[in-house]
Amino acid sequence: MARDPRYDVLFEPVKLGPVTTKNRFFQVPHCNGMGYRDPSALAAMRAVKAEGGWGVVCTEQAEIHPSAEICPFIELRIWDDQDVPMLARIADSVHRGGALAGLQLCHNGMNAPNLYSREIPFGPADLPVASIFNDPVQARAMDKTDIANLRKWHRQAALRAKRADYDIVYVYAGKLFGGPMFFLSRRYNTRTDEYGGSLENRVRLLRELVEDVKDAVGDRCAVACRISVDELIGEAGLHAAEARDMIASMAELPDLWDLTLSSWDNDSQSSRFTDEAYQEPFVAGIKQLTTKPVVGVGRFTSPDTMVRMVRQGVLDLIGAARPSIADPFLPRKIEEGRIEDIRECIGCNICVSGDHTASIIRCTQNPSMGEEWRRGWHPERIRRRATDSRVLVIGAGPSGLEAAMMLGRRGYVVALAEAGIELGGRLIRERRLPGLAAWGRVVDYRVGQLARMPNVEIYRASHLTTEDVLGFGFDHVAVATGAVWRRDNVARASVTPSPLGDIQLLTPDDLMSGTRPPGKNVVIYDDDHYYMGGVLAELLTQEGYRVALVTPAAEASVWTRNTMEQHRIQTRLIEAGVSILAHRILKSADTGSVALGCIFTGRPSHVEADALVMVSSRLPVANLARELDARQTAWADAGLKSVTTIGDALAPGTIAAAVFGGRRYAEELDEEIDPDTLPFRREVAELQPFSLDRLLDASSQ
Ligand code: ADP
Ligand code: SF4
Repeated sequence: MARDPRYDVLFEPVKLGPVTTKNRFFQVPHCNGMGYRDPSALAAMRAVKAEGGWGVVCTEQAEIHPSAEICPFIELRIWDDQDVPMLARIADSVHRGGALAGLQLCHNGMNAPNLYSREIPFGPADLPVASIFNDPVQARAMDKTDIANLRKWHRQAALRAKRADYDIVYVYAGKLFGGPMFFLSRRYNTRTDEYGGSLENRVRLLRELVEDVKDAVGDRCAVACRISVDELIGEAGLHAAEARDMIASMAELPDLWDLTLSSWDNDSQSSRFTDEAYQEPFVAGIKQLTTKPVVGVGRFTSPDTMVRMVRQGVLDLIGAARPSIADPFLPRKIEEGRIEDIRECIGCNICVSGDHTASIIRCTQNPSMGEEWRRGWHPERIRRRATDSRVLVIGAGPSGLEAAMMLGRRGYVVALAEAGIELGGRLIRERRLPGLAAWGRVVDYRVGQLARMPNVEIYRASHLTTEDVLGFGFDHVAVATGAVWRRDNVARASVTPSPLGDIQLLTPDDLMSGTRPPGKNVVIYDDDHYYMGGVLAELLTQEGYRVALVTPAAEASVWTRNTMEQHRIQTRLIEAGVSILAHRILKSADTGSVALGCIFTGRPSHVEADALVMVSSRLPVANLARELDARQTAWADAGLKSVTTIGDALAPGTIAAAVFGGRRYAEELDEEIDPDTLPFRREVAELQPFSLDRLLDASSQ
């Protein structure tokens, strides 16, 4: 199909200093939990994005010096020449995909606790480091030698970036990650020398760094300046007016302006709290301060919104991190007029959790993300079927939908049977909860794709039994029957069930099915710690209930720290009038009252309640799988070769994990899996020359 001419503007080339991007699709730097530990995986991931049509593909931050490293987060490093081959592999991979490669140089300044290097961090002033773990580390105020060194290190890193063949080199002053931002900030920069005080003085370091990098590599590389346009804390922080003055003061210096909100949690807000293009009010008008191209983000997935950003003079380049993670082929799909094939980011921030947990990036919508090199998965392609096997997938939740879709793409004849009328499994109801509507895109994308596959039949209202399955004559069966919330309090604080009393007990499934508490006072006991407890508290307060959210953790929905939502959730709950009772476990619950105990002292307390909502853990719906397993002797007669349980029916987890399970099933069907070999490739560090002679006492050897 041809591209819609309305979108032509998105495919115009844009000159960035000495280089030119072929279109306006710009994958801005984003972390991924791979960094220096998994550089080949990183190179493959970026290459796939380039193949998917992004004009520019950037790395995440590359730490330029051990005086600023943000262990335990795993980023790239460009500390010395040893790092050049790794960085060159990434640039080369991006080039092979057809995009310009950008490298984000970063000295994290006083954001870096330096837990690995043990170097003393430094910044504009003597202050505790601004890392998120409240590390007991203070940064020291930089003197003139430090400033000279910082400039020198940037220059050296830029020269290495050029040697590694990058086209765009960043100077990073954004999100309270890029160290120069601490100099821009009035609250951090209390210096009285020429680097503190007036706006001109606070901008001085950033200006010098951009000048230095331009001088070092500007003949061949575009130099981008990434800057925060607002910290969203009012006058106390960097705010819109001041940021605009700063940009205006060095408007023509960089080849490209990359605009972000600060800090990262503001920049990458989830769909629970913001819609597409949420950064527009913060960046509008900045383009008019400079003749240089401007890139900005806002979870753009709609080409119409992208066109509007360009036509209305808000942005020159459509920046994307998450939309490029969910669909690395987004530009190609727009170019080929395949809008309905776009796998839209759902804004869940599971991708962010990879970085926050120092584990490899993952994505709810795109299960191949992070798996391109280590498992050989591609977001759009999958190898042809190896046999003529016919496959039955039971259950049309995220896992079953993904399995059926990818098996269909492989060319298998697939039947997808679903007990209910609607497709989507847990998401049918969860997408109706407050703030989770965009999550429904997981279902919509897959249902849309399946509808166009002649080799996949969907059977609704088909609750299958063992006899049904054995009678159909399929070769392979995937059981994706999901999970249900437990009615008892078995989760983390209590791993065995205990009698609770005679209060009305409700599970999340009950509430999502429409059952409501008999009176107005409700206790939600959350020992799950992800989104469900907080979302249900929001739902019930919206409906007029008085809600107490009880949790053994220190905060509501504490795991959502990893999706950068926790503080927003807690704020929203407090403002809605939810009382959050932290550090308590459930003791018993009788009509009218729930008994709690402090997790530290055991001291008892009581909360008035007409009902208790248990957000504890889930149990797999595994009866069908178990029964089929018990009937293995009947398999041969039925022509059945394998029965495999996938997704929540195997082990309840995130939606991302269920989608991954579905993809894995489709990838591995008909493949010989040797349980003694590792399920994926990994990068093993090269060993350095090694001798213990000078370390150990010779007499002990
Ligand atoms: P997952 O997240 O693993 O995909 P879900 O709970 O979202 O799991 O979806 C499981 C789906 O399986 C639900 O839509 C449910 O109706 C369906 N299901 C459960 N048991 C059967 C069965 N015996 N036959 C057909 N469909 C079933
Ligand atoms: Fe979007 Fe969620 Fe994927 Fe991140 S994990 S890219 S937020 S769908």
